Amino acid sequence: MATKSQPRSVDLRDVTPRDGLQGERAVSVAERAHLVTQLADAGLRDIEVGSFVSPKAVPSMAGADEVIELIGARDDVRWWALVPNRRGVDLARVSRIDALTLTISASDGYSRKNVHRSTDEAIAGVGEIVDAAAGCELDAVISCAFGSPFEDVTLRSVADVVDRVRAAGVDRLTLADTTGAATPRRVARVLGAVGCDVGLHLHDTRGTALANALAGLDAGVTRFDTSVGGLGGSPFAPGAGGNLATEDLVLVLEDSGIDTGVDLDALIRIAEALADLVGHPVPGRTAAAGALPHFDAG
Ligand code: ZN
Repeated sequence: MATKSQPRSVDLRDVTPRDGLQGERAVSVAERAHLVTQLADAGLRDIEVGSFVSPKAVPSMAGADEVIELIGARDDVRWWALVPNRRGVDLARVSRIDALTLTISASDGYSRKNVHRSTDEAIAGVGEIVDAAAGCELDAVISCAFGSPFEDVTLRSVADVVDRVRAAGVDRLTLADTTGAATPRRVARVLGAVGCDVGLHLHDTRGTALANALAGLDAGVTRFDTSVGGLGGSPFAPGAGGNLATEDLVLVLEDSGIDTGVDLDALIRIAEALADLVGHPVPGRTAAAGALPHFDAG
């Protein structure tokens, strides 16, 4: 049963087709469109279907616009795509994308590796992206928000980046643990500084993703990015583990009486199919062990 401090429901944005698959061998447009349809049928209402980045930089993401075309009209789901820059926004706008994620790194070293710009240069470009994205919801994802292997990130520097990106007029913000540096204590401290009206995008590099999500939930966060099977990870983050697995979070939330609107059994079936698609077992634990047995906790 839900306690008073818990939300009744949380919103999951599934990033399997983008973050989950970007580091894997290329998966065809038809297979990605099928995956997206399965995720929508499982009850996910926000799905990141791909990215509008250079096919040279990330070949596995080529054809994001074709994926969306193949899926067809679907009013019950918002389609998200990652855009790295103004050109990506323009490409996304001529597709049927509803909403955009834009990554700004709190780590200067990561920013230079990922988008070949300093953090300050990237923030200076946000205003132009906000204008170009008008009519599409724009979520700025602040990467390396809990630490970076490239240099020391501090609470003050993360809060400063968040303030400046907010001031540039984005619709919403997500804090990303791109390199798997978050702990429950760090999550609580950052949320204490920037407020809990943010999403959390967590990676399981050091086995802390689920604990970090629960720390965020305790602080009042109700938006989470997840990937079925726990697939994913940035090619620019050394040793990065996969995303928090959608089905692992759904299992814990639903057992706590928090509604996700998602069918856990369907997610487990998708995770099994994903292992075949990518050619290796997926890291998610629930995908391996199955749904919880019943337990009358009185
Ligand atoms: Zn990620």
